Amino acid sequence: MSVLKTTVMGAALTISISTNVMASDSNKDFDYVVDRFADVEVLRYKVPGFEELSPDRKKLIYYLTEAAISGRDILWDQNNKYNLQLRSLLEDIYANYKGDRMADKEFKAFVKYLKQVWFGNGIHHHYSMDKFVPEFSREFFDAQVKALPDDRKPENIDVLTRVIFDPAFMAKKVNQAEGQDLIATSATNLYDGVTQKEVEDYYAALKDTTDMTPVSYGLNTRVTKEGGKVVEQTYKVGGLYSKAIERIVDNLRKAALYAENDTQRSVINKLIEYYTTGDLKAFDDYSILWVGDTGSRVDFINGFIESYDDPLGMTGNWESIVNFKNLDASHRTEVISGNAQWFECNSPVDPRFRKEEVKGVTAKVITAAILAGDAYPSTPIGINLPNANWIRAAHGSKSVTIENITQAYDEASHGNGFNEEFVPDTAMRELMDKYLFITDNLHTDLHECLGHASGRLLPGVDPDALKAHGSTLEEARADLFALYYLADPKLIELGLIDSPEAYKAQYYKYILNGLMTQLMRIEPGKDVEEAHMRNRKLISEWALEKGAPEKVIEYYTIDGKTYLRINDYERLRQLFGQLLGEIQRIKSEGDYEAGRDMVEAYAVKVDPKLHREIIDRYSHLDIAPYRGFVNPRYTPVYNADNTEIIDVNISYDEDYIGQMQRYSKEYSSLSK
Ligand code: ZN
Repeated sequence: MSVLKTTVMGAALTISISTNVMASDSNKDFDYVVDRFADVEVLRYKVPGFEELSPDRKKLIYYLTEAAISGRDILWDQNNKYNLQLRSLLEDIYANYKGDRMADKEFKAFVKYLKQVWFGNGIHHHYSMDKFVPEFSREFFDAQVKALPDDRKPENIDVLTRVIFDPAFMAKKVNQAEGQDLIATSATNLYDGVTQKEVEDYYAALKDTTDMTPVSYGLNTRVTKEGGKVVEQTYKVGGLYSKAIERIVDNLRKAALYAENDTQRSVINKLIEYYTTGDLKAFDDYSILWVGDTGSRVDFINGFIESYDDPLGMTGNWESIVNFKNLDASHRTEVISGNAQWFECNSPVDPRFRKEEVKGVTAKVITAAILAGDAYPSTPIGINLPNANWIRAAHGSKSVTIENITQAYDEASHGNGFNEEFVPDTAMRELMDKYLFITDNLHTDLHECLGHASGRLLPGVDPDALKAHGSTLEEARADLFALYYLADPKLIELGLIDSPEAYKAQYYKYILNGLMTQLMRIEPGKDVEEAHMRNRKLISEWALEKGAPEKVIEYYTIDGKTYLRINDYERLRQLFGQLLGEIQRIKSEGDYEAGRDMVEAYAVKVDPKLHREIIDRYSHLDIAPYRGFVNPRYTPVYNADNTEIIDVNISYDEDYIGQMQRYSKEYSSLSK
């Protein structure tokens, strides 16, 4: 799994829970929430730092964003062969509608459907893969089609009508159920007129299993039959999707003129070569160059990348993300990594289990400038590419977190009622408002850059000794390292935080989540299974129990609702340190029994009564399970005689419908 998607239900909710409030004083003038329909909330994100970039970097980004949006129709067509026609038809009906837009229930249901189709980049839900169900009537639809000008009436209206109204027709975008022909039962357009067996035989014959550096077979092709023979139609200039790819290439050429350095220019040129030839070897060469480009401020992904939507896992969905390095946030991770040895030497674990020489990992933090294709409107918050295993092993990978996207999630969660429901103490709510965003980021940095990298095994200890409990205990170790140091004056000394109180916001939220709010993601009657959830529960339950004599953490109730109070933060920090020492011992000695007992005692079992209460309280909050984004808009500023771009302006005023309509109008290279 190379992309961390957050629009999946669980993860979207994690974000709501983990960082539900934050500093918002500076953002009162910025509306993060753009639209809300069905199970979706659409947000917008800021691109802080864009204005301060040099004109050349802005131009580079501008052309890369144009290259990004230019590929939009490719993904629509990959998702289903009727998507582009259907989108045109729906948009025509929307524009042509003559009735009362505010009052007509049928029209409103139609708009909801259109918004869903836009969000899914087609007729299927981006996550569940199920086809959207229209809530407007067949009569309404027929009348609207009839009212269209003759030249806008599709010839195959019967098929398109069936696509909308027949639930059994093209029901599932991707079918993964064993025992069926996955190609025949999937509605994607990656295969046409071939059976699963034919495709499997075709690739089996093509693949050289002794090749240690294989290309990603099928990544950029649709498989079909010509004259009874299985063939691949390649996505390339002069091949399938040529019109869209030509436009991508044209913008990449312009972008290459403003490349920051020769390395970056060679990355762009190699990508152009790949799009022009369709040669997968060129794509591997491009990926290797891309991984090696760590010095440029601006970076981008553009291509056929993730293959989750291919029932056979081969063809990449088209996507693009353009971004630039967030220097402040990356400075934060550099400071932390640069002081890794100090943290290691002062950690509350037995010196025998400490690393003598520790090297922190530096994570790059980026700012997204545009999201496109498979990354739009639903988008990842982290990226780790390339996907080819042999390239990762030989050349490494780039791992980034997209902080302006996580920031938008955080900001938008403000005021969703979560805190009012679960944090009754207004002083704590204010502290969370002020410090949760920065302490969340610091927690992540400490966890990733130091926590996982710290400690060592005693000689001869099997790294897999903790078996099934290994990942829960490893996550607990990293979290405890982060929690322990969040309260350390060293962070103030390093200039990473300005208040000795800030950590309390993180402690409170962490315990609240571990003991209570994360339970809403578990189905009634089930245990906690997922490693990160188990780890949070383990830490929180252990601290609750060990601190019980001094009432470090306590439950209380108001009107039958359960709440939490932390009475002694310093003592809680000591408990975190103590547990870190014990879990490090378990890991260093490979003490399987102690690890298993700890996980079983604290991390798994759910109190059914509290569980029911949390689910019930959460259900009363109006929190959308899925979220996505509209992009900012980039407008070039030309010189006096209109021959050259001298600057690029960014604006955030577009709404969801407006952006979708504009993209369809200006970037429809494949639709009719
Ligand atoms: Zn981790």
